[in-house]
Amino acid sequence: MNIHELTFLQEKIQELKDTGVYRKLPILEGPNEAEITLNGKKVINLSSNNYLGFASHPKLKDAATRAIEKYGVGAGAVRTIVGNMDLHEEMEKVLAQFKREEAVMVFQSGFNCNAGTIQAIVEKGDLIISDELNHASIIDGCRLSKADKTVYKHADMESLESVLKEKRDQYRNVLIITDGVFSMDGDIAPLPEIVALAEKYNALTYVDDAHGSGVLGENGRGTVDHFGLHGRVDFTIGTLSKAIGVIGGYVAGSHTMKEWLSHRGRPLLFSTSLPPAAVAPIIEAVNLLMSTREYTDRLWDNARYFKQELGKLGFDLGKSETPITPVIIGNEGKTMDFSRKLLENGVFVSGIVFPTVPKGTGRVRCMVTAAHTKEQLDQAVKVFKQVGQEMEII
Ligand code: PMP
Repeated sequence: MNIHELTFLQEKIQELKDTGVYRKLPILEGPNEAEITLNGKKVINLSSNNYLGFASHPKLKDAATRAIEKYGVGAGAVRTIVGNMDLHEEMEKVLAQFKREEAVMVFQSGFNCNAGTIQAIVEKGDLIISDELNHASIIDGCRLSKADKTVYKHADMESLESVLKEKRDQYRNVLIITDGVFSMDGDIAPLPEIVALAEKYNALTYVDDAHGSGVLGENGRGTVDHFGLHGRVDFTIGTLSKAIGVIGGYVAGSHTMKEWLSHRGRPLLFSTSLPPAAVAPIIEAVNLLMSTREYTDRLWDNARYFKQELGKLGFDLGKSETPITPVIIGNEGKTMDFSRKLLENGVFVSGIVFPTVPKGTGRVRCMVTAAHTKEQLDQAVKVFKQVGQEMEII
Protein backbone atom coordinates (compact mmCIF):
# COMPACT_ATOMS: atom_id res chain seq x y z
CA MET A 1 0.00 0.00 0.00
CA ASN A 2 1.25 3.48 -0.87
CA ILE A 3 1.75 5.95 1.90
CA HIS A 4 -0.93 8.68 1.80
CA GLU A 5 0.09 12.05 0.37
CA LEU A 6 -1.87 13.87 3.08
CA THR A 7 -2.93 16.56 0.61
CA PHE A 8 -5.50 17.82 3.14
CA LEU A 9 -2.60 18.69 5.47
CA GLN A 10 -0.47 20.09 2.66
CA GLU A 11 -3.29 22.53 1.88
CA LYS A 12 -3.38 23.70 5.49
CA ILE A 13 0.40 24.10 5.52
CA GLN A 14 0.14 26.23 2.38
CA GLU A 15 -2.37 28.43 4.22
CA LEU A 16 0.20 28.99 6.98
CA LYS A 17 2.73 29.99 4.34
CA ASP A 18 0.26 32.33 2.62
CA THR A 19 -0.47 34.15 5.90
CA GLY A 20 3.22 34.50 6.81
CA VAL A 21 3.07 32.41 9.99
CA TYR A 22 4.82 29.27 8.72
CA ARG A 23 8.10 28.59 10.52
CA LYS A 24 10.80 25.99 10.95
CA LEU A 25 11.87 24.80 14.38
CA PRO A 26 14.91 26.82 15.46
CA ILE A 27 17.94 24.67 16.34
CA LEU A 28 19.90 25.47 19.45
CA GLU A 29 23.52 24.33 19.58
CA GLY A 30 24.46 24.22 23.25
CA PRO A 31 22.73 25.23 26.47
CA ASN A 32 19.69 27.49 26.74
CA GLU A 33 21.29 30.59 28.27
CA ALA A 34 21.16 34.40 27.94
CA GLU A 35 23.34 34.15 24.83
CA ILE A 36 22.86 31.15 22.57
CA THR A 37 24.05 29.69 19.30
CA LEU A 38 20.95 29.41 17.13
CA ASN A 39 21.09 27.95 13.63
CA GLY A 40 24.85 28.50 13.73
CA LYS A 41 24.73 32.15 14.85
CA LYS A 42 25.43 33.71 18.28
CA VAL A 43 22.42 35.73 19.45
CA ILE A 44 20.96 37.25 22.61
CA ASN A 45 18.17 34.98 23.81
CA LEU A 46 14.97 36.73 24.88
CA SER A 47 12.68 33.75 24.43
CA SER A 48 13.47 31.33 27.19
CA ASN A 49 11.40 30.39 30.24
CA ASN A 50 14.65 29.72 32.08
CA TYR A 51 13.83 32.69 34.36
CA LEU A 52 16.59 32.20 36.90
CA GLY A 53 19.28 30.73 34.67
CA PHE A 54 18.96 27.38 36.48
CA ALA A 55 18.90 25.26 33.27
CA SER A 56 22.69 25.22 33.22
CA HIS A 57 23.50 26.13 36.83
CA PRO A 58 26.67 24.26 37.96
CA LYS A 59 25.07 23.05 41.21
CA LEU A 60 22.13 21.58 39.32
CA LYS A 61 24.39 19.95 36.75
CA ASP A 62 26.44 18.38 39.56
CA ALA A 63 23.30 17.06 41.22
CA ALA A 64 22.20 15.49 37.92
CA THR A 65 25.56 13.84 37.37
CA ARG A 66 25.63 12.39 40.89
CA ALA A 67 22.09 11.09 40.50
CA ILE A 68 22.97 9.29 37.26
CA GLU A 69 25.91 7.59 38.99
CA LYS A 70 23.72 6.40 41.85
CA TYR A 71 20.36 5.71 40.14
CA GLY A 72 21.04 5.36 36.39
CA VAL A 73 19.37 7.27 33.59
CA GLY A 74 15.77 6.09 33.70
CA ALA A 75 13.11 5.48 36.35
CA GLY A 76 12.14 2.24 34.62
CA ALA A 77 8.40 2.22 35.31
CA VAL A 78 5.37 4.32 36.18
CA ARG A 79 5.34 5.55 39.76
CA THR A 80 2.52 3.26 40.83
CA ILE A 81 4.47 0.15 39.82
CA VAL A 82 8.20 0.47 40.48
CA GLY A 83 9.19 3.92 39.19
CA ASN A 84 8.87 5.76 42.52
CA MET A 85 12.37 6.26 43.96
CA ASP A 86 13.24 7.83 47.29
CA LEU A 87 14.39 10.81 45.18
CA HIS A 88 10.82 11.38 43.92
CA GLU A 89 9.54 11.33 47.50
CA GLU A 90 12.20 13.83 48.61
CA MET A 91 11.39 16.13 45.66
CA GLU A 92 7.71 16.27 46.66
CA LYS A 93 8.57 16.93 50.31
CA VAL A 94 10.85 19.84 49.39
CA LEU A 95 8.29 21.26 46.97
CA ALA A 96 5.52 21.09 49.60
CA GLN A 97 7.77 22.97 52.00
CA PHE A 98 8.53 25.56 49.30
CA LYS A 99 4.87 26.04 48.40
CA ARG A 100 3.78 26.00 52.07
CA GLU A 101 1.16 23.33 51.37
CA GLU A 102 0.37 19.97 52.97
CA ALA A 103 1.39 17.91 49.96
CA VAL A 104 2.67 17.97 46.39
CA MET A 105 2.18 15.47 43.57
CA VAL A 106 4.68 15.67 40.70
CA PHE A 107 3.88 14.78 37.08
CA GLN A 108 6.20 14.51 34.07
CA SER A 109 5.37 17.98 32.75
CA GLY A 110 3.22 21.01 33.50
CA PHE A 111 1.13 20.12 30.48
CA ASN A 112 0.25 16.62 31.60
CA CYS A 113 -0.20 17.79 35.18
CA ASN A 114 -3.11 19.93 33.98
CA ALA A 115 -4.32 17.22 31.62
CA GLY A 116 -4.23 14.59 34.39
CA THR A 117 -5.40 16.60 37.38
CA ILE A 118 -8.47 18.40 36.04
CA GLN A 119 -10.05 15.23 34.66
CA ALA A 120 -9.38 13.43 37.93
CA ILE A 121 -11.06 15.98 40.21
CA VAL A 122 -14.23 17.01 38.40
CA GLU A 123 -16.71 14.76 36.60
CA LYS A 124 -20.26 14.57 35.25
CA GLY A 125 -22.53 16.67 37.45
CA ASP A 126 -19.75 19.22 38.11
CA LEU A 127 -18.97 22.53 36.41
CA ILE A 128 -15.63 24.06 35.39
CA ILE A 129 -15.48 27.85 35.06
CA SER A 130 -12.29 28.84 33.24
CA ASP A 131 -10.71 32.21 32.37
CA GLU A 132 -10.92 32.68 28.59
CA LEU A 133 -7.14 33.21 28.32
CA ASN A 134 -6.10 30.12 30.29
CA HIS A 135 -3.22 28.03 28.94
CA ALA A 136 -3.77 25.37 26.27
CA SER A 137 -2.99 22.56 28.73
CA ILE A 138 -5.85 23.75 30.96
CA ILE A 139 -8.16 23.81 27.96
CA ASP A 140 -7.13 20.26 27.08
CA GLY A 141 -7.49 19.17 30.72
CA CYS A 142 -11.02 20.57 30.71
CA ARG A 143 -11.81 18.75 27.47
CA LEU A 144 -10.72 15.47 29.04
CA SER A 145 -13.07 15.95 31.98
CA LYS A 146 -16.72 14.92 31.74
CA ALA A 147 -17.76 17.99 33.72
CA ASP A 148 -19.69 20.82 32.02
CA LYS A 149 -17.50 23.77 31.06
CA THR A 150 -17.93 27.48 30.64
CA VAL A 151 -15.55 30.44 30.36
CA TYR A 152 -15.57 33.88 31.95
CA LYS A 153 -14.14 37.02 30.39
CA HIS A 154 -10.46 37.43 31.08
CA ALA A 155 -9.88 38.48 34.72
CA ASP A 156 -13.39 39.96 34.77
CA MET A 157 -14.97 39.40 38.18
CA GLU A 158 -18.43 40.55 37.11
CA SER A 159 -18.37 37.94 34.37
CA LEU A 160 -17.21 35.24 36.83
CA GLU A 161 -19.83 36.18 39.42
CA SER A 162 -22.65 36.20 36.90
CA VAL A 163 -21.79 32.60 35.92
CA LEU A 164 -21.61 31.57 39.58
CA LYS A 165 -24.92 33.26 40.37
CA GLU A 166 -26.69 31.65 37.46
CA LYS A 167 -25.22 28.15 37.61
CA ARG A 168 -23.86 27.34 41.08
CA ASP A 169 -26.99 25.61 42.34
CA GLN A 170 -27.30 23.33 39.32
CA TYR A 171 -24.05 21.48 40.07
CA ARG A 172 -22.46 19.41 42.82
CA ASN A 173 -18.89 20.78 42.61
CA VAL A 174 -17.83 23.93 40.79
CA LEU A 175 -14.16 24.44 39.94
CA ILE A 176 -12.83 27.90 39.06
CA ILE A 177 -9.61 27.69 37.03
CA THR A 178 -7.21 30.51 36.32
CA ASP A 179 -3.60 31.00 35.37
CA GLY A 180 -1.72 32.79 38.17
CA VAL A 181 0.33 34.75 35.64
CA PHE A 182 -0.94 34.81 32.05
CA SER A 183 1.82 33.57 29.81
CA MET A 184 1.14 35.70 26.74
CA ASP A 185 0.46 39.03 28.48
CA GLY A 186 2.32 38.77 31.78
CA ASP A 187 -0.62 40.06 33.83
CA ILE A 188 -1.42 38.58 37.25
CA ALA A 189 -4.85 37.05 37.96
CA PRO A 190 -6.97 38.96 40.52
CA LEU A 191 -6.67 36.04 42.92
CA PRO A 192 -7.96 37.68 46.13
CA GLU A 193 -11.22 38.51 44.33
CA ILE A 194 -11.45 35.06 42.72
CA VAL A 195 -10.91 33.36 46.09
CA ALA A 196 -13.51 35.62 47.74
CA LEU A 197 -16.08 34.70 45.06
CA ALA A 198 -15.20 31.02 45.40
CA GLU A 199 -15.79 31.24 49.15
CA LYS A 200 -19.06 33.15 48.68
CA TYR A 201 -20.42 30.57 46.22
CA ASN A 202 -18.78 27.48 47.71
CA ALA A 203 -16.62 26.73 44.67
CA LEU A 204 -13.19 25.09 44.45
CA THR A 205 -10.17 27.03 43.13
CA TYR A 206 -7.41 25.89 40.79
CA VAL A 207 -4.47 28.17 39.94
CA ASP A 208 -1.90 27.32 37.26
CA ASP A 209 1.17 29.15 38.47
CA ALA A 210 3.62 27.99 35.81
CA HIS A 211 4.86 31.57 35.32
CA GLY A 212 4.45 32.76 38.92
CA SER A 213 6.50 30.08 40.66
CA GLY A 214 10.12 31.13 41.06
CA VAL A 215 9.07 34.67 40.11
CA LEU A 216 6.45 36.12 42.50
CA GLY A 217 6.13 35.89 46.29
CA GLU A 218 8.72 35.28 49.00
CA ASN A 219 11.76 33.60 47.42
CA GLY A 220 9.63 32.87 44.35
CA ARG A 221 6.94 30.92 46.19
CA GLY A 222 4.39 32.05 43.63
CA THR A 223 1.18 33.99 43.11
CA VAL A 224 -0.68 32.46 46.07
CA ASP A 225 2.15 33.57 48.36
CA HIS A 226 2.34 36.97 46.63
CA PHE A 227 -1.26 37.64 47.69
CA GLY A 228 -0.98 35.90 51.09
CA LEU A 229 -3.66 33.34 50.19
CA HIS A 230 -2.13 30.18 51.65
CA GLY A 231 -4.80 27.68 52.67
CA ARG A 232 -7.46 29.33 50.50
CA VAL A 233 -6.60 27.87 47.06
CA ASP A 234 -7.43 24.17 46.66
CA PHE A 235 -5.09 23.26 43.81
CA THR A 236 -1.95 25.15 42.80
CA ILE A 237 -0.10 23.96 39.71
CA GLY A 238 3.55 24.67 39.09
CA THR A 239 6.01 23.66 36.45
CA LEU A 240 9.57 22.50 36.98
CA SER A 241 10.59 23.46 33.46
CA LYS A 242 10.63 27.25 33.70
CA ALA A 243 12.14 28.96 36.79
CA ILE A 244 13.27 25.61 38.20
CA GLY A 245 15.08 24.96 34.93
CA VAL A 246 14.52 21.22 34.49
CA ILE A 247 11.31 19.36 33.49
CA GLY A 248 8.10 18.31 35.22
CA GLY A 249 4.93 19.74 36.70
CA TYR A 250 3.23 19.51 40.08
CA VAL A 251 0.06 20.14 41.94
CA ALA A 252 0.29 21.48 45.50
CA GLY A 253 -2.57 21.25 47.98
CA SER A 254 -3.97 18.85 50.56
CA HIS A 255 -3.07 15.28 51.56
CA THR A 256 -6.46 14.21 50.20
CA MET A 257 -5.65 15.69 46.78
CA LYS A 258 -2.43 13.69 46.68
CA GLU A 259 -4.04 10.45 47.85
CA TRP A 260 -6.72 10.71 45.15
CA LEU A 261 -4.30 11.63 42.34
CA SER A 262 -2.05 8.71 43.19
CA HIS A 263 -5.04 6.48 42.28
CA ARG A 264 -6.65 8.47 39.47
CA GLY A 265 -4.00 10.80 37.98
CA ARG A 266 -3.76 9.07 34.61
CA PRO A 267 -0.29 10.33 33.58
CA LEU A 268 1.02 8.89 36.86
CA LEU A 269 -0.63 5.56 36.26
CA PHE A 270 0.21 5.21 32.59
CA SER A 271 3.42 7.12 31.87
CA THR A 272 6.92 6.54 33.26
CA SER A 273 8.07 8.86 36.04
CA LEU A 274 10.75 11.54 35.78
CA PRO A 275 14.33 10.29 35.42
CA PRO A 276 16.76 10.67 38.36
CA ALA A 277 18.84 13.19 36.41
CA ALA A 278 15.79 15.49 36.38
CA VAL A 279 14.64 14.86 39.95
CA ALA A 280 17.95 15.52 41.73
CA PRO A 281 18.53 18.98 40.16
CA ILE A 282 14.91 19.91 40.91
CA ILE A 283 15.59 19.22 44.62
CA GLU A 284 18.79 21.27 44.38
CA ALA A 285 16.99 24.17 42.64
CA VAL A 286 14.17 24.36 45.19
CA ASN A 287 16.61 24.27 48.11
CA LEU A 288 18.67 26.99 46.41
CA LEU A 289 15.59 29.17 45.92
CA MET A 290 14.60 28.80 49.57
CA SER A 291 18.11 29.73 50.73
CA THR A 292 18.61 33.01 48.84
CA ARG A 293 16.77 35.82 47.09
CA GLU A 294 19.75 36.53 44.87
CA TYR A 295 18.19 35.00 41.76
CA THR A 296 14.66 36.38 42.07
CA ASP A 297 16.02 39.85 42.89
CA ARG A 298 18.23 39.83 39.81
CA LEU A 299 15.33 38.65 37.65
CA TRP A 300 13.16 41.56 38.80
CA ASP A 301 15.96 44.14 38.47
CA ASN A 302 16.58 43.01 34.89
CA ALA A 303 12.88 42.92 34.01
CA ARG A 304 12.21 46.41 35.38
CA TYR A 305 15.21 47.85 33.57
CA PHE A 306 14.37 46.27 30.21
CA LYS A 307 10.70 47.32 30.35
CA GLN A 308 11.62 50.84 31.32
CA GLU A 309 14.02 51.18 28.37
CA LEU A 310 11.56 49.71 25.81
CA GLY A 311 8.77 51.85 27.25
CA LYS A 312 10.89 54.99 26.81
CA LEU A 313 11.23 54.15 23.11
CA GLY A 314 7.45 54.10 22.74
CA PHE A 315 6.78 50.37 22.28
CA ASP A 316 3.35 49.07 23.35
CA LEU A 317 4.13 46.68 26.23
CA GLY A 318 0.53 45.72 26.96
CA LYS A 319 -0.39 45.25 30.62
CA SER A 320 2.39 43.04 31.90
CA GLU A 321 3.12 43.05 35.65
CA THR A 322 5.84 40.40 35.52
CA PRO A 323 9.12 39.69 33.67
CA ILE A 324 7.09 38.47 30.66
CA THR A 325 7.37 41.47 28.33
CA PRO A 326 5.09 41.39 25.27
CA VAL A 327 5.78 43.96 22.59
CA ILE A 328 2.47 44.25 20.80
CA ILE A 329 2.65 44.62 17.01
CA GLY A 330 -0.89 43.61 15.92
CA ASN A 331 -0.79 42.25 12.37
CA GLU A 332 0.36 38.62 12.19
CA GLY A 333 2.66 38.96 9.17
CA LYS A 334 4.27 42.14 10.51
CA THR A 335 4.85 40.46 13.88
CA MET A 336 6.70 37.58 12.27
CA ASP A 337 8.70 40.03 10.11
CA PHE A 338 9.69 42.00 13.19
CA SER A 339 10.85 38.82 14.91
CA ARG A 340 12.85 37.78 11.81
CA LYS A 341 14.55 41.19 11.56
CA LEU A 342 15.43 41.20 15.25
CA LEU A 343 17.07 37.82 14.73
CA GLU A 344 19.01 39.04 11.69
CA ASN A 345 20.37 41.71 14.02
CA GLY A 346 21.38 39.27 16.75
CA VAL A 347 18.34 39.18 19.08
CA PHE A 348 16.10 36.13 19.29
CA VAL A 349 12.52 36.92 20.36
CA SER A 350 9.80 34.61 19.14
CA GLY A 351 6.79 36.05 17.38
CA ILE A 352 3.47 34.93 18.85
CA VAL A 353 0.35 35.07 16.71
CA PHE A 354 -3.10 33.54 16.30
CA PRO A 355 -4.15 30.91 17.41
CA THR A 356 -1.85 31.29 20.45
CA VAL A 357 -3.18 34.84 20.96
CA PRO A 358 -6.36 36.43 19.53
CA LYS A 359 -6.29 37.61 15.87
CA GLY A 360 -4.82 41.10 15.43
CA THR A 361 -2.86 41.02 18.69
CA GLY A 362 0.41 39.53 17.38
CA ARG A 363 3.39 40.27 19.54
CA VAL A 364 6.99 39.39 20.12
CA ARG A 365 7.26 38.11 23.66
CA CYS A 366 10.45 39.01 25.50
CA MET A 367 11.41 36.82 28.43
CA VAL A 368 13.94 38.62 30.58
CA THR A 369 15.91 36.38 32.93
CA ALA A 370 18.23 36.69 35.92
CA ALA A 371 21.06 35.49 33.70
CA HIS A 372 21.05 38.48 31.31
CA THR A 373 23.83 41.02 31.79
CA LYS A 374 23.13 44.75 31.56
CA GLU A 375 25.26 44.85 28.38
CA GLN A 376 23.08 42.18 26.75
CA LEU A 377 19.89 44.02 27.68
CA ASP A 378 21.31 47.32 26.38
CA GLN A 379 22.31 45.68 23.11
CA ALA A 380 18.83 44.17 22.75
CA VAL A 381 17.21 47.57 23.38
CA LYS A 382 19.46 49.13 20.73
CA VAL A 383 18.37 46.51 18.18
CA PHE A 384 14.69 46.96 19.10
CA LYS A 385 15.08 50.70 18.50
CA GLN A 386 16.76 50.28 15.14
CA VAL A 387 14.37 47.63 13.76
CA GLY A 388 11.34 49.31 15.35
CA GLN A 389 12.16 52.56 13.56
CA GLU A 390 12.93 50.84 10.26
CA MET A 391 9.54 49.09 10.34
CA GLU A 392 7.75 52.20 11.63
CA ILE A 393 6.57 50.45 14.75
CA ILE A 394 7.85 53.31 16.89
N1 PMP B 1 0.75 26.11 32.16
C1 PMP B 1 1.17 27.30 31.69
C2 PMP B 1 0.45 28.54 32.12
C3 PMP B 1 2.28 27.37 30.81
O1 PMP B 1 2.69 28.54 30.33
C4 PMP B 1 2.94 26.17 30.44
C5 PMP B 1 4.16 26.17 29.55
N2 PMP B 1 4.05 26.81 28.35
C6 PMP B 1 2.45 24.97 30.95
C7 PMP B 1 1.38 24.97 31.81
C8 PMP B 1 3.10 23.68 30.57
O2 PMP B 1 4.25 23.48 31.28
P1 PMP B 1 5.39 22.46 30.77
O3 PMP B 1 6.20 23.19 29.76
O4 PMP B 1 6.12 22.13 32.01
O5 PMP B 1 4.68 21.28 30.20
